[in-house]
This record gives sequence, structure tokens and C-alpha cells, in this order.
Amino acid sequence: MGIASGNPRQLESFVCGEWVRGAREGLPLHDATTGEPVALIDSSGIDFAAALNYGRSRGGPALRAMTFHERAGMLRALGQALMELKEEFYALSYATGATRSDSWIDIEGGIGTLLSYASKGRRELPDTRVLIEGDVESLSRDNSFSGQHILTPLQGVAVHINAFNFPCWGMLEKIAPTLLAGMPAIVKPASQTAYLTELMVRRIIETGLLPDGALQLICGSVGDLLDHVTGQDAVTFTGSASTGRRLRSHPAVIANSVRFTMEADSLNSCILGQDAGPGTEEFDLFIKEVAREMTVKAGQKCTAIRRVMVPRAHCDAVVSALGKRLTTVSIGNPADEAVRMGPLASLEQREEVRARIHDLSPETRIVFGDLDRIEVISGDSEKGAFLNPVLLLCESPDNARAVHDVEIFGPVSTILPYDSPAEAVDLALRGKGSLVASVFTNDPVIAEETVLGLAPFHGRVLIGNRTSGKTSTGHGSPLPVLVHGGPGRAGGGEELGGMRSVKHYMQRSAVQGAPRLLSAVTGRWIEGAPARSDGVHPFRKSLAELRIGDQIVTGKRTVTLEDIEHFAHFTGDTFYAHMDEEAARANPFFDGRVAHGYLIVSFAAGLFVDPAPGPVLANYGVDNLRFLTPVNPGDVLQVRLTCKDINPRGSAEHGEVRWDCRVTNQHEAMVAQYDVLTMVAKSWP
Ligand code: NDP
Repeated sequence: MGIASGNPRQLESFVCGEWVRGAREGLPLHDATTGEPVALIDSSGIDFAAALNYGRSRGGPALRAMTFHERAGMLRALGQALMELKEEFYALSYATGATRSDSWIDIEGGIGTLLSYASKGRRELPDTRVLIEGDVESLSRDNSFSGQHILTPLQGVAVHINAFNFPCWGMLEKIAPTLLAGMPAIVKPASQTAYLTELMVRRIIETGLLPDGALQLICGSVGDLLDHVTGQDAVTFTGSASTGRRLRSHPAVIANSVRFTMEADSLNSCILGQDAGPGTEEFDLFIKEVAREMTVKAGQKCTAIRRVMVPRAHCDAVVSALGKRLTTVSIGNPADEAVRMGPLASLEQREEVRARIHDLSPETRIVFGDLDRIEVISGDSEKGAFLNPVLLLCESPDNARAVHDVEIFGPVSTILPYDSPAEAVDLALRGKGSLVASVFTNDPVIAEETVLGLAPFHGRVLIGNRTSGKTSTGHGSPLPVLVHGGPGRAGGGEELGGMRSVKHYMQRSAVQGAPRLLSAVTGRWIEGAPARSDGVHPFRKSLAELRIGDQIVTGKRTVTLEDIEHFAHFTGDTFYAHMDEEAARANPFFDGRVAHGYLIVSFAAGLFVDPAPGPVLANYGVDNLRFLTPVNPGDVLQVRLTCKDINPRGSAEHGEVRWDCRVTNQHEAMVAQYDVLTMVAKSWP
């Protein structure tokens, strides 16, 4: 679907399984470069309560019927399908003012986030519908009553209200964890760039990969939608702090304790370390990073550097180096390959940026850039929302207020001189909580002092230095595997962060009961639940035959001094506790020479394995290995191995089996405890 310039199309919403137009013609959305209308937007007449109900009654049950691995597979297929179509999204994205490299973050960065959640879901989540969190808490002496935390998907809809600056990534980074959790979503893009989100949602729906009702889209106002949210729904918001505060205090959100994640204005900082003066690699990296953050997406990034803390002695050098670098940034039509920075998203946004610069003028002066003279290498400087980068200097940041308070959402940063690392941190904290801060230093002491000072007020802190100069993902890039969000003024939410954000769409419940029944709920064997020893060694059973609770209690083996000495010389581990009786006795943990922990693990394997070729294909590791009681010569070991968890891994030919392994001595004291991880064939022979 292309949208021809000058021929604006009325955007449609996708609700209750169909594409619908608003009742009115709608408001025009303009191309950021030419000012031509691109599309019309209106959502009047849409029944928002029905959309919520559709998601809850159709999308939710269909998603919850799938396992985590099935949902991860769905995300992967979707990511791959969208990647095939990326050129269509790039073509339309120029209208938003973004250059191709700006849109790489939005389009391929967004699809990459989908794919990252797909592979993390596959690797880190079980192939089940319920997530187990933490260990079993034994609540009785005789193991007849235990507790376990589980997570299950919320049964409502996640409503995602997004900002204009990332029409694709903004949607994808939120729906990836939502869908993986098993919850349907309604996406409401910011009007200004909603045409690109609409195109992507069209393509998503056309793939047929998502269950009916899993994804709905509202182009235009969400009307009375928030009046209908319940405690099973979730709302996320990205945009201005003022709108966020209004939505967070919506009566239905408050009355129903609706989960509300907010990501709002953020006065992100970048600190040049006192060690990183002109001539150092860190100085050059810092200059490059600040210039990049000012100009990528014309500074319209929630993570962009707004405040730049510089050692007072290096201020002139920084102004000069930054100015030199910013001079080389060519501004113009984002479709022009020679252009490095496109226009702002709209003329209104440019007026907003100019007004905010004016707000800062009592505390700052312009040291680079000209607000009135716009130099473009292509495009019409009158019709397009172009603005040159502007660098401000605040001589007395300690006495300033506006520089710590006003987010200028454009290619504008303010330099703040400082005299000590503590002062640099103090200035950063005046942002009252931000998404990200970075510090450029090669000094471990400065790194420690600065990062520990910044961390409580930031969702992410980046250290830049010469070692990571080439590999660093940069100050401004949120990553799917790391937290994205920030405390305080930044909204107090965490949108990303690997599996942390999946759990946001799930309810954590503490389930208490008899182990047999807990085990039935979670699908995982726990101590106290029934075990089965049917005479067949569990290693002789393929995945088709193996059951949770299948158990073997092995024969016994006495550990001798010769065993310990043989193992010591064979492996080279002649640590005194194994070899020197007197030294071992002097050790507060031992009463004479003890067996190596790894000897115990090796003997345990010797006791529990079934040696003949069979369905167990490989031992790929152990988890949670603990040595609990020392083993002295003469002690007698015995092992109890129980099938704890089976992960069939979809259609793979073999699955993963986790075994609970307990090694005891002749007094039935636990010597070692761990989980043995194996690959087991689905059928054998
Ligand atoms: P807004 O807060 O105005 O809008 C954000 C989203 O909220 C949009 O989807 C908007 O829809 C929607 N919205 C607005 N009012 C309501 C309402 N009453 N009920 C439900 N949804 C509503 O922010 P903008 O996107 O216009 O950006 C304004 C400023 O916010 C920027 O200049 C910048 O300072 C800051 N911002 C900060 C970001 C960050 O992450 N730090 C990201 C983007 C912006 P619609 O577009 O249809 O009005």
C-alpha cells in the first residue's frame, strides 16, 4: 500500500476483526518534508468497549491456548515476514522526516526486537502455559504442604498508547512481550505518524500468523476506551509527562488498579570524565556520541542526550569539537542519500522546539547553531519542518532550573560545566529520574563513583571508553534484553528488559498446597510429590514413555582414601583439603581429608547412569550444584534421581529433561544436590 503524496487516504482502524473508517473525514497528517497531506485520521464512531471485549473474548483465549514456545514461534515467523516487506515501510517512512538510517532503528530495530523476544522466549521459557518462578518453599517439616510462585497471563487486553517518534519500533517493542506472555493488544499510535503503523499492522494481519483478536489498531483518538478498562487489562503509555499523568489518573485506571506503564519526558545526561580531556580516545568518542544523539531522528528520541556535563576546563574544547562535527551534518529531504538529518516530524513540532529553546534562554546562550537561518541541501526550507542543530551552554547549571526541567524534543543539547565527579552526578540527578545516562571515562574509580551515583535515578547507564568504542551499541539504543524505562520523571516503568517485561503482562500468584497437587498445577515434580520406580531405569525411556516423577534410587558406593588420592593425581587437583590430613583438620569446614566435590559428582554419575546406548543422548550441564556435607574416607554414597521437568521443544526430534539429583551419605545427610540436564530422544529405538 503506497500513499501517494497529495492524495491523502483516510486511515482505518482494525477493530473486532475488520478494518473500519471513522465516521468523519478526519484531520490531515502532513509530510514532514513537503508539508503535503499524507493521510486523514479519525476514529469517531468506533465502539471502543466492543474492541476491548473482542480482544478479551477472542484474542486472549486463543493466545492462552498456545504454549510459550508456540507464541515464540509465532513471533519469529512474524518477524521474518515483516523483514521481507521492510522496503515498503522504508518508502513510507520518509514522510515522517526520518532518513533511511533513522528508520533502520524504527523498522529493522523494531522487527529485530520481535525476533529477539522470539529467540529468548524459546531459550528461556518452558514449553508450557504457566511460568514457574523461583524455588519451591517447603512450608511443613514432613513435606506435606509447600508453596510455589507461578505466573499466568492476564485475561484482559494490553492497551499500548505510543509516541509519534517510533511508529514501528514503538508498537513492536511493546507487542513482542505482550503476545509472548499470552495477552492480546490494542495499539494506538500517535496520530502524527500513524500511517506507517497502520501500514505495518495491515501487513501483520495479512500474514494470518496472529490469532483473531490478538492485535487491534486504533488510528485516531481512543475516545472512551479507558473508561472500560478493568484490573485484568494493562495500559502502557509513551509520550509527554503531562498526558501520561492525565491517563495514569484516569478514574477507571485508579479504581481498578490497572497496571499502567509510563515512559515519558527524560532529561538524559552524558558526562565527560575528568580523565577524558582533548587528545584522549574517550574525548573523541564522547564528541561523536553527543553529535549523533543530537542529530539521529533530528533529536526526536526519548533517549537522546539533552544535558552534556563537561569538566569546566574542557568546555571550550568541547564546544569547538562539537561545533566542528555538527557543521558537517547535511540537512534536507530524508530521501536524499546525501542527507544526514531530516526535518522534525511536523511544523508544529518545530515551533514547539523553538518555544522550548526560548524557555531556556534566561539560563543559557547559543554556542552553535542559528534558530532563524536554516540551511538545507535539498527540500524546501519553508515547507519542511527543518531545524539546524543547536548547542546551548549553561554557565551556572547549579543555579539553573529550566535546563533540568524542560525536555526539548529536537536536535538541541545543553552543555553544563562541572568541577568534580560528584557535581556531575548531582546535575544529572536534577533530571528527577531519566531513561539513560552515559559517562565517557577510562578511569575505573570515576566509572564506579559515577555509575553508582547515577544508577538509582536511571533505567540504564552506559560507560563509554576506548575498549568498547567500536562495539558499543551507544547511549541512545534501548536493547530488548536490557531494561528500557526509567524512574521518577521518566515515568517509573520498564518497557523492555528481556523476560522481565513479559512478566508485566502476567499475574504472579503464590500457590500453596500438598506437593502432589502443586506438581499437577505446575507440571514440574517437587519434593514430596509421588515418584514412580517401576523397575525400568528412567534412562531406558524415550520422551514418549518418560513421566514426571520417574525415579531411580541407586546402589551404594563407599569412598576410600585411595579413591581420593587416585582422583587427585589423575586430575591434578591436589588441593590440601584432599591430600594433607593435618592441614585439612585445621580448616574450619573439615574434620580431616575430604573427597573432591567433583569426585562426588563423578561417583554419582557412575551410580545413576545406565551405560548401554539408549534414548538419553547427552548430558548438557548441571544447574544449582551445591556440596552440602563433606565426604570423608569411609563414607557411603547413594543417589536418588527423579525426572523433574520435560521440555519437548516443539517438533524437534529430542527434548530436554531436567532431573532432580540428590546424593546422600550413610546417615542420610544430603552430600550434594543439583539438577542434571539431558537431551532425550522422543522415540527409541
Ligand atoms: P503526547 O503525550 O501528546 O501523545 C502521546 C500519545 O498519547 C499519542 O499517541 C497521543 O495520541 C496520545 N494521547 C494524547 N492525549 C490522549 C488522551 N487524552 N487519551 C489517550 N491518548 C492520548 O505526546 P506527543 O507524542 O505529541 O509528544 C509531545 C512531547 O512528548 C514531545 O515533544 C516530547 O517532549 C515528549 N515525548 C517524549 C517521549 C519519551 O519517550 N520520552 C516520546 C515522545 C514524546 P494523538 O497523537 O492522537 O494525540
